[in-house]
Amino acid sequence: MDFTSKSVLVSGGSRGIGRAIAQAFAAKGARVAIVYRSNQAAADEALELLAGSGHIALQGDVGRAEDVENVVAEAISQFGQIDILVNNAGIGIDHAVDQVSFEDWQSAWQQTLQTNLIGPANLCFCVAQHMIENGSGRIVNVSSRGAFRGEPTQPAYGASKAGLNSLSQSLALALAPHNIFVGAVAPGFVETEMTQDLFAGPKGDEIRGQSPFNRVAKPEEVAHAVLFLASAGAEFTTGTIIDVNGASYLRS
Ligand code: NAP
Repeated sequence: MDFTSKSVLVSGGSRGIGRAIAQAFAAKGARVAIVYRSNQAAADEALELLAGSGHIALQGDVGRAEDVENVVAEAISQFGQIDILVNNAGIGIDHAVDQVSFEDWQSAWQQTLQTNLIGPANLCFCVAQHMIENGSGRIVNVSSRGAFRGEPTQPAYGASKAGLNSLSQSLALALAPHNIFVGAVAPGFVETEMTQDLFAGPKGDEIRGQSPFNRVAKPEEVAHAVLFLASAGAEFTTGTIIDVNGASYLRS
């Protein structure tokens, strides 16, 4: 896979899976704009790790429409174009239905949907306008196994990712006539800061045992699937959702 002369925008590219995606694109010759919400030190560190030159870090909250417009405009102004959008930024908040107040329940739903679904929808909209003008583009959305399997303690998370899958498929249909291809990657558990406490705790063995590999995914393994969907030759996969869960959940 070669991404020389391609410009890529990766939301949440400063840490975890997003950082691995940014590194993988940069290693294949792309120029990368990483979007982060607040941890500038992590964003600076991520930039340092990218091969090649000309990469940028842009601060913005994907849950705020004005920030989305700003980061897209800034990336286009600095790179001249965005060829590939990766919607990776996401959050998960515990709000088990039998444990939280109604107030906390509503807050978790609002925050989760705003970041994990409305944010990516707005990024898709703004970047698609530019890609339509350019006559081509790729969009890859980072979903989750939870969209299919359910998320008992984070129902808004599962719903947001199911919505993201549906958004990906709707846009695959709407944008194919514009030569823009849209796919999604649905990881199971991945070794990142989002999950490290969980894996180190009493549930760690059970979680690793969900896969016949007896481990969780590495961020690089998710990145590999993202790059495949964005690569030349993968056009006919548009609308697909790739599972990266080590056979821990096989959907029919
Ligand atoms: P992470 O380690 O917690 O990193 C999250 C990244 O997203 C950070 O760069 C963070 O920036 C950024 N971010 C969060 N909210 C944002 C917002 N509102 N606006 C802009 N940037 C924001 O997460 P991860 O584990 O790598 O997860 C990445 C994606 O994979 C998520 O969509 C997640 O749902 C999905 N996923 C993860 C797993 C897993 O096991 N880790 C499994 C399945 C799917 P700051 O640091 O500046 O806040």
